[in-house]
Amino acid sequence: MRVLGAAAIESLLPIGHCIEVVDAAMRALSSQQVLSPLRTVMALTAPNAMGVMPGAMLEHGCFGVKVLALYPGNGALGLPSHAGAVVLFDAVSGAPVAVLESNSLTALRTAAASAVATRALARPGSRVVALLGTGHQALWHVHALRAVLPVTRLQLWSRTAENVASFAAHLGPLDGVEVVAMGSAQDAVNGADVVCTVSSSREPILQGAWLVPGQHVNLVGASVAAAREADNEVVRRSRFFVDARASAAAQAGEWLGALQDGVVGDSHLLGEIGEVLLGRVPGRLTDADITVYKSLGHTAQDLAAAGAVLRQAQARADVPNIDW
Ligand code: NDP
Repeated sequence: MRVLGAAAIESLLPIGHCIEVVDAAMRALSSQQVLSPLRTVMALTAPNAMGVMPGAMLEHGCFGVKVLALYPGNGALGLPSHAGAVVLFDAVSGAPVAVLESNSLTALRTAAASAVATRALARPGSRVVALLGTGHQALWHVHALRAVLPVTRLQLWSRTAENVASFAAHLGPLDGVEVVAMGSAQDAVNGADVVCTVSSSREPILQGAWLVPGQHVNLVGASVAAAREADNEVVRRSRFFVDARASAAAQAGEWLGALQDGVVGDSHLLGEIGEVLLGRVPGRLTDADITVYKSLGHTAQDLAAAGAVLRQAQARADVPNIDW
């Protein structure tokens, strides 16, 4: 049994490797190689919750579960908003083989998933990236998007100017990248090739009226049906893709809101990103399309990333069994 914490995970799974691992996981998901009942989100004292995400990738030799605390107010206390563990099992013996710290693994795989979608859907050569929200997910999005795009400018916005400033300071100088704090979400979106919403907001912070032809949008932050970071117009104007159809039908607030309001019909959801990667569904058709990837996060990403970390740990003599 390996017990691996954040530092071990981040050193064993460089973001470039994680992107390829998640790319393969999304193809496996859309090839029906992943067993994954819908995740459970159990309410605790509001607004806190516990999430349970089970799954199996038997053809990849593993199954497991992510169990995590969702405490959206923790940022104000200097604590992470997500905390928990992924427990990975060997599918042949049924033995538990690893426990991995889930906060770092989640941030890595979530950013990697956005990078995979951006690589597939954004206009080639996209250089300007807007981040709405500057928390933990946003940080890894910077590194992941730089791995797939020639980023030259980051346009940052969140509600609190000090948070944006400390995020930019934490990023430090990025070779060839201008990092700019913007006064409003609309200012951040203006001139961006790729827009990522990575906030804890439950109400729209991105309006479709602000978008221009050619942009690609990753909607990452809203994870339950009652929350949406983008308004109906973002959905209506876009070629709209998701990570997993089943979870989108239950938990993608932006999609469900647009459907319920009669703004779009079922056929507006064009497919899973894995279907685009497999060539079964066309992604971007023209440079003028607005493309959207709705990310809810999937157990396939957790299991695949956890398996990749474990393999690296097993291959290296200098990683102790317990490194938390
Ligand atoms: P953090 O707490 O680290 O950061 C949250 C960010 O959201 C901060 O920049 C905060 O900045 C901003 N924010 C909070 N409330 C609002 C609001 N009402 N309007 C606008 N901005 C707001 O959280 P994480 O980065 O870890 O997570 C962000 C979101 O991503 C969460 O909702 C989480 O559930 C989701 N998530 C999604 C995953 C996926 O796979 N799709 C995986 C993991 C997380 P400020 O207060 O300055 O505005």
